[in-house]
Amino acid sequence: MNPTLQNWLADEIQSLRDQHLYKTPRILESPAGGRVRMDGREVVNMSSNNYLGLANHPKVREAALRSVEEWGVGAGAVRWIGGTMKVHQDLEERLAAFKHTEAVLVFTGGFTANSGCIPAVTTKDDVIISDELNHASIIDGVRLSAAAYKKSDGWVYPHKDMDALEDCLKRAQGFKKRMVITDGVFSMDGDIAPLPDIVALCERYDAFVMVDDAHASGVLGKNGAGTASHFDLYGRVDIQLGTLSKALGVVGGYIAGSARLKEWLINRGRPYLFSTAHPPMVAAALIAALDVMENDPEPMRRLWANAKWWKDALAEKGFDTMGSETPITPVYVGDEAAAQQMERMLWDEGVYALAIVYPTVARGKARIRTMPSAAHTEQDLADALAAFVRVRDRLAVHA
Ligand SMILES: *Cc1c(COP(=O)(O)O)cnc(C)c1O
Repeated sequence: MNPTLQNWLADEIQSLRDQHLYKTPRILESPAGGRVRMDGREVVNMSSNNYLGLANHPKVREAALRSVEEWGVGAGAVRWIGGTMKVHQDLEERLAAFKHTEAVLVFTGGFTANSGCIPAVTTKDDVIISDELNHASIIDGVRLSAAAYKKSDGWVYPHKDMDALEDCLKRAQGFKKRMVITDGVFSMDGDIAPLPDIVALCERYDAFVMVDDAHASGVLGKNGAGTASHFDLYGRVDIQLGTLSKALGVVGGYIAGSARLKEWLINRGRPYLFSTAHPPMVAAALIAALDVMENDPEPMRRLWANAKWWKDALAEKGFDTMGSETPITPVYVGDEAAAQQMERMLWDEGVYALAIVYPTVARGKARIRTMPSAAHTEQDLADALAAFVRVRDRLAVHA
């Protein structure tokens, strides 16, 4: 063991602990669901992205099991080297039809879809313009690009500020290509990007749009087809990223767009070129998840009914849900230490909900982030609400 490395690791870890940034995952001892066993106790899980309850849906499980029987557990290689299994191609065709786009290319995760696509479609002659609250995987994808993108150079606009975006686009006219990238649903606030305005500005100033719909997939639009569907912007969003890991309940990410875009990413998307394909059961389970989404309106109806109930109930009890428009429901606390104490007290009351603090969100904007889902029963949410009220009253924090 190299002592220089070991000492550096020890110092850095201690520094994270000192700043209250140190993380350890809790251990889930039951399948994903509204109520789970975690670290030896039963809790209502308010921190999962399993929006539609598909992660443990009988039809999705059944499809995965059948696929294992027929195809085994591994794809064997990168797709262009080892050959693409038919089920991977079937999934892409299903997704393209679902998204009303010419083509879809699947990556092993939403994170890798961002790091595969963004640097592949931009060069040193281009500029990438970003919303300041974009997800970490967008930021990392942007950093892999040779294009201009830096905040210090003025290419990051204040959250959803369309005047500032227009100003960026005006200043960007000297570049060869202009790319505007935004979350469709912002993951820590639960608000929706003003996509019609973004698209109109991009059309006016000859820019192309990429929207990361990780939290809109399965949540917004027809059968959960995302923000382009929600705003009826079919054919006007150049690149849509979706995740297969959240509402779809399995794992993966994809890029939906033109056939030419797919052709390019097959040749220039580095995670596609150099990382092994999903196990076939993943693709088979995802096709089953799409079947449920397209044919059974009940999970999405329950998701939104639960989200409405949860937001209304919190508001009625005097909590501030920070303008969230989607199931992602932040409960405002403000002070970092108070939020972290609230998280611990909620856990003691049988509710698992994480405090989100600086640097994930701005200083002084700490919150408890909650995610009602189709997997929750009325009783789960009622119990969680009662716990929030008891904890708030005991803490007497501003909430
Ligand atoms: C979760 C998330 C991702 C990453 O998706 P995975 O499929 O989990 O890798 C990308 N973008 C946003 C906005 C996300 O919230």
